[in-house]
This record gives sequence, structure tokens and C-alpha cells, in this order.
Amino acid sequence: MSVLDDIKELIDSAQKILIVTHENPDGDAIGSSLGFMHGLRKLEKDVTVFIPYINKMYNFLPGSDEIRHELSDDEKFDLCIALDSSDIERLGEGKKWFDKADKTIVIDHHITNQNYGDANYVNAVACSTCQNIIVVLASLEVAINKVMGTCIYAGMLTDTGGFRYNVQSETFEFVSMLLEAGIEIAPIYRNLFDLTTEARTRLLGRALERLEVLEDGKITYTYVTKADEAEFNCEDGDYENIVNYGRNIEGVEVSIFFREIEEGKIKVSLRANDYVDVSLIASKYAGGGHLRAAGFSISGSMEQSKNIVIDEIKKQLQ
Ligand code: 5GP
Ligand code: MN
Repeated sequence: MSVLDDIKELIDSAQKILIVTHENPDGDAIGSSLGFMHGLRKLEKDVTVFIPYINKMYNFLPGSDEIRHELSDDEKFDLCIALDSSDIERLGEGKKWFDKADKTIVIDHHITNQNYGDANYVNAVACSTCQNIIVVLASLEVAINKVMGTCIYAGMLTDTGGFRYNVQSETFEFVSMLLEAGIEIAPIYRNLFDLTTEARTRLLGRALERLEVLEDGKITYTYVTKADEAEFNCEDGDYENIVNYGRNIEGVEVSIFFREIEEGKIKVSLRANDYVDVSLIASKYAGGGHLRAAGFSISGSMEQSKNIVIDEIKKQLQ
């Protein structure tokens, strides 16, 4: 039996299904959760998506208003499905529900996935978890409609940085299927890539002002603190994408972005251009990701974290 058969069996025998995803959910996490929710509802399943917090930029996605941000302890689910999360810890609050469910499924595209479910569909060649959702829905014989397609396209678009990274000919075959289902590309693109807020723009400005360039221009880094985010009334997720500004500088190989999550805890985002394997560095610090885009959290002050991570990257460049 293939994993897809196992997944079909687990879904067939479940009625109340919970979908969870990783902390600080991005377009792929939210898009795959909502796309799969709509799909499973076609099979008459009672589907709940639990995501503690989403940035309001994703509010245009159909079904986002149904996302539950809290669950009460007495709720029970036959099956919990974790999407786009390479390990159980990264599920954050969702972990508890994953642990409590009778059965579990993991669907992901991270090369670092720990296969922590009863059935694990992890195709790391896929550009996004959303692309894997198309395959799973096909095996469940659910026809993708415009609503599902819109959510799925959002994840494919964002995880590939606008169809630049991780893209293969089959990526566009999948996109073609979504166009057949009637999705409208321009509004999705505008909502995810063009539309911004004053808070996000000001936070970006602060980060750009602080940008440092090291090692003959091969490394660049910047950071934001909790105080910066408070000053501009930022929402969680408003820092997303700042790391790419450093990566776009000519000659840069690695761009690092540090964000203070809480006092003494720093989130690190890494992006490489051509040859540094940043997933290796992230794995060393209990994080993960992809060859050229990875992340992890580290304990310590901003200053300590900067020193440790920059030294690590310098070593990788030698
Ligand atoms: P970002 O830097 O945008 O937060 O994440 C880049 C990539 O690294 C994404 O694929 C994301 O899933 C992964 N990633 C970021 N932080 C972590 C982490 O703490 N643990 C794991 N396993 N993956 C992470
Ligand atoms: Mn993803």
C-alpha cells in the first residue's frame, strides 16, 4: 500500500478532522490548511482548522474567517492532520492536539521532515505543501474548485517566491489544473505581494537602516526588536520578507534576519543565493527548512545571537 492509500483509509474512517500547521504560519501553511479544509468538506467531513494567529494579509483567502484561533480542552478529534511543518515542536499550540488525536497524518515538502505522523506524505521535490495537497486531493477523488484552488495557489505562489525557487515543469502543470478550476491570478498576487500596510513599511524601513554588510559583501544582516514592532503597531508576521532585501544585494551570498521573539529569545531567518546550505546550519540549532531558505530560534540576547550566527555563517563561507 502506498502512503496515499494509507491517507485515504485514515480519512475515510474519520469524521471529525482537525488541521494544524506550523507557528508563524506563512502563505503555504495557511493556503494548504484552507485548501485541504474545503476539499475534505466535499467528502462530508466535519473539518476544523486551528491556527492561533494569522496576519490579516491572508484574510482574503476563502474560509479564513472560519479558522479557529482557540480550541477548548473538551473538544475531540478522530484525526489530526499537520501541514507544512517539518517537526512536531514547530506545531506550537497545535502539538497538543496532534498528540491527543486518535490518528495523525503529516503532509509536507521539507527535506528535514521527521515523519512524525501515522501516515506521512512528504515530497520534498514539491515546490510547496500546497502542491502536495493537489496530489492528495486527487487520490481522494476530490475535484479542485475555485475556492480550493485559490487557497492552494496562494501557497504555491508564496513558497516559490513568485515561481522562482524550487520550480519544475510539473509545478506549472499543477498551476494549469488550478487555472482550469477557475482561479483568478491577479487578485491573489496583489494581496500577497503588492498590498502592504504602514506598519509593515515602517518596520522594513527600520530594518534597512540597520543593515550591515560583512565579509567582502558576502554576508548581510539586520534585525528588529519587540520595541520596534510595538512602536509601529506591527502585527505578527509584518517582518516577513525583510530578509530578502539583504539577499537581493549584489554579491551577497547569505542574508540573515534576526527578530526578537521575547526577551532572551531570537528567531533567525537565513537565505542563501548560490552555494551555502543554510538548512544544515538551521538543523544544527534544532531548526530546519530548505537548502537556500531556513530558520531556527536561539536563546540569548540579540548581541549574543548575532555573534554566534554570524561566526557560523563565516565558517560556512570558507
Ligand atoms: P523563515 O525564515 O521564512 O521563517 O523560514 C524559512 C524556511 O525555514 C521555511 O521553510 C520554514 O519552514 C523553515 N523554518 C524557519 N524556522 C524554522 C524552525 O524554527 N524550525 C524548522 N524546522 N523550520 C524552520
Ligand atoms: Mn511550505
